[in-house]
Amino acid sequence: MKLPHKSSSYFQLLMISISLAINYCAISVSASKSTDHDLSYFESAALAKPSFKSKNQSSSPAGEKKPAAAAAAAFGADCGTWSAACSDEIMRIAKKPENVKWIKSVRRRIHENPELAFEEHETSRLIRRELNELDISYRFPLAKTGIRAVVGTGAPPFVAVRADMDALPIQEAVEWEHKSKNPGKMHACGHDAHVAMLLGAARILKAREHHLKGTVILVFQPAEEAGNGAKRMMEDGALENVEAIFAMHISHHLPTGVIGSRSGPLLAGCGFFKAVITTGGNGLHRNIHNSGDPLLAASASVISLQGIVSRESNPLDSQVVSVTFLKSGDDNLDTQPTSVEFGGTLRAFSNTSFHHILRRIEEVIIAQAKVYRCSATVDFFKSSDSMYPPMVNDDRMYEHLRKTAIDLVGPTNFRVVQPVMGAEDFSFYSEVVPATFFYIGIKNETLGSVHSAHSPHFMIDENALPVGAATHAAVAERYLHDRDISINGILHRQE
Ligand SMILES: [Zn+2]
Ligand SMILES: [Zn+2]
Repeated sequence: MKLPHKSSSYFQLLMISISLAINYCAISVSASKSTDHDLSYFESAALAKPSFKSKNQSSSPAGEKKPAAAAAAAFGADCGTWSAACSDEIMRIAKKPENVKWIKSVRRRIHENPELAFEEHETSRLIRRELNELDISYRFPLAKTGIRAVVGTGAPPFVAVRADMDALPIQEAVEWEHKSKNPGKMHACGHDAHVAMLLGAARILKAREHHLKGTVILVFQPAEEAGNGAKRMMEDGALENVEAIFAMHISHHLPTGVIGSRSGPLLAGCGFFKAVITTGGNGLHRNIHNSGDPLLAASASVISLQGIVSRESNPLDSQVVSVTFLKSGDDNLDTQPTSVEFGGTLRAFSNTSFHHILRRIEEVIIAQAKVYRCSATVDFFKSSDSMYPPMVNDDRMYEHLRKTAIDLVGPTNFRVVQPVMGAEDFSFYSEVVPATFFYIGIKNETLGSVHSAHSPHFMIDENALPVGAATHAAVAERYLHDRDISINGILHRQE
């Protein structure tokens, strides 16, 4: 994930809107309307009422499980009709001591051996070895080190769950038993945990394969931090037949095991620019009046760029334009440089705003260069895939996540979060199929897992791992379950 970027005036300093009271009210109201199962959930927006109360679930206080559901779970629920017992059974498998021990060991092995974008060879090998152990088939390689694994019937519908695998060029500063053994490389964004949780989900889904009413595709993706892993995976067929996709990211803003997300825009579209302003002359001018002044033109450009967000954008539509570097000339204080380079980043929550900013950055720089008798070029690095579209959660997929998570972890452990100006290449998938991106908390002040991603002090509370595995598994299994009911419901009405 690319980190949030501050704007001078509209950056929303995150983060988690803890709207427990609001959530709880919504749950109470919706529960009174709930039906035996979510027959209409995937059929139309008009019918897509979120249902938080399943057949066997009472309106007991937040987080409490009805004894009957727990008892049913103990014997293994028949999930022909989805009930709280199905969620309980998934969580029960995830929290088996041997599974918890295994998922932590997977994460630790990956953490010790962090690999950068498109170099995740050992990580990929470890994943394939575990998939072999689980008797799960897969396609390899996609995007050099990526894997597309398959659990279920092999027939439609297909739902995908994705984990990214790459580490960062950061020297780990956390002293612990499983510290990175690769100098200058670190899993400082939690992608080691993402892989472990998706493998954990694979294990749960394999144990429940007889319940699956379709196919779950497990997408292990390289190079999220490099920005083009997702696109390369899609080019190699990662989304073949897939009709919906979900992904999870760890969050140090949420307490351990708490799930968070929101409907609509969640993460910003992100891009970068680099401008070069030149005089067009032969340089070494001592008399500025004989030539343009690229330094003055660049300075005026930097000032004018601030006006794009502060004077041209809707204040309610958060956007960022930041100049982050500027360089020119040398130590010779008697010489006018012939060129100046500067650049920065831009962020927006909609494609319209994003493309408006792109166009205006170029216009402003070229026009300001002209004012000072210079010329300019602006590069947006379009060919290097460093532009991410905004991550906009699909409303229906978000509702699916929300009801699944609430059933699984209880209403007090689900939070509606605020959008942030960070970026994720998962947004490329969301341009192709309905998608939802969500967070799992790893914050534990006692443990010290309070540092932001991309910090050399970053660490996670591993107790989140089984919860994340269960959430992935429940989201996928229940998607297929509800989709099946949706299809059968449509067929039934046609008869
Ligand atoms: Zn990251
Ligand atoms: Zn990340």
